[in-house]
Amino acid sequence: MPNRRNEIKKKDIIAQYIFYTNVAVAAMVFLVPIGAWLITGNETYLSPVHFLLAGFVGAAQIFVNYLYRQRFREYWVKVRNSIKSLADKLSNIRRLEDIRNLREEKENLLYPLLEEKSFSTLGESLDGLLEKVLDVMEIKLFKEDLIKKLTSTLDTDRLANILLNNLIRYYDIPAAAIYLKSPYDDGFELKVNKGFGEIKNTLDESFLSLLQDKEDVLIEEPVKLPLDLGICELPTQRLFVHKLVPRKRKLIGVLFFGFREVDENSISKLREFLEETRTTLALIFENALEHERSLSLANLDPLTGVYNRREGFKLIKKLLSRSSVEGENVCLLLMDIDHFKRINDTYGHEAGDKVLKEVVKAVREVLREDDIVVRWGGEEFLIALHGVSPEEAVEIAERIRLAVASKSVRVRKNSTLGVTVSIGVACSKAEGTYSFDKLFELADLRLYRAKREGRNRVVAS
Ligand code: GH3
Ligand code: MG
Ligand code: MG
Repeated sequence: MPNRRNEIKKKDIIAQYIFYTNVAVAAMVFLVPIGAWLITGNETYLSPVHFLLAGFVGAAQIFVNYLYRQRFREYWVKVRNSIKSLADKLSNIRRLEDIRNLREEKENLLYPLLEEKSFSTLGESLDGLLEKVLDVMEIKLFKEDLIKKLTSTLDTDRLANILLNNLIRYYDIPAAAIYLKSPYDDGFELKVNKGFGEIKNTLDESFLSLLQDKEDVLIEEPVKLPLDLGICELPTQRLFVHKLVPRKRKLIGVLFFGFREVDENSISKLREFLEETRTTLALIFENALEHERSLSLANLDPLTGVYNRREGFKLIKKLLSRSSVEGENVCLLLMDIDHFKRINDTYGHEAGDKVLKEVVKAVREVLREDDIVVRWGGEEFLIALHGVSPEEAVEIAERIRLAVASKSVRVRKNSTLGVTVSIGVACSKAEGTYSFDKLFELADLRLYRAKREGRNRVVAS
């Protein structure tokens, strides 16, 4: 495209106009005595006095025009200065705050243009243009700023909070919530809820299937949504649902935004923002989820999903030192599968692996969520219980033993297998120590005794 700017020949149109008017008026005024003589035939009109008078009027005319031009120039300087400072301010915008300041100052800067009647429409158009430019700059800065904040952390809780807090504030959203895929299973867990009141902690399958094959959805009457669709008791009249999909068909999170009927403008602005940042947002959250998953995987035994020895040791040590301060009882249960080698030898390593998983499952069913289960070595597990008496710990150990013994593990198509464990128990309250080494040694001795005394038993003293 040719550069129009280079083609423009600068013309001082107004100055030219004023100059020609001056000349025309002066000439006309000068011609008045001659005209009067021609019409009346009276030669006295040609006397120097008349020409002098006409000349005087012409000169006055030129002078007034000159003054007008001066004023006009001055005015233009004002206009030019205000446009120039607007441009300066525009080019110096770095933060959202600068935009807010300029919006406040804008009226003053545009004043010379708005004040003069003949330029006020120009001023108004400029104001509208500026408003549009500021809008574009604002959304760009907001986006950049938010993405910068989001990329500063890999913690999904913080990410969800930063995202919702910023969106809520910026778009004036009454309620928002975010569900993210659980790193452990296929479920979606509530991460942050702001303003929705009571909503479910996990998303239902039925709601997720409703979202399938859909891009973002605006549900106009969410109050009428059946409660089992995932969200309930909405204090809002419209629900906007945005899916986080980093790759084709892979859903990793769902964002909910609740609006009132009057929030039409906010809805469309938010939709625009989410549309523009769709992939970036999804990738940021996917990254964080992956990170979280790999962190937790590094601490877990890949076969059974319980803590590995390194992490387990760390956690039990921490538990012991905390409990020694609080005077709380801690019991260590050292558990070993009986004749495990035989299982491996008879049915193969794979069957052995299956038995390991099944034993852990049985143990888990007996224990509380915050009891620590550690795969200490091959088929040996260390369990730490706290907040129970030594007698209760023995009972729990018995329950574990029975739960395992009552299981039958399918190892081949038509054969199942019974499996038993032996457990050695040592408690800080009973032994008068919070030393890991001492408690472990006692539990190990007792496990050894349980084996010697015939296996499938608990020894606690
Ligand atoms: P005991 O009743 O005295 O404990 O007899 P055991 O056969 O269980 O004892 P031993 O310690 O001799 O055998 C442990 C076996 O566990 C040996 C090893 O091959 C097997 N093992 C260790 N880790 C794994 C594993 O991850 N998978 C499988 N399938 N076997 C494992
Ligand atoms: Mg064994
Ligand atoms: Mg062993």
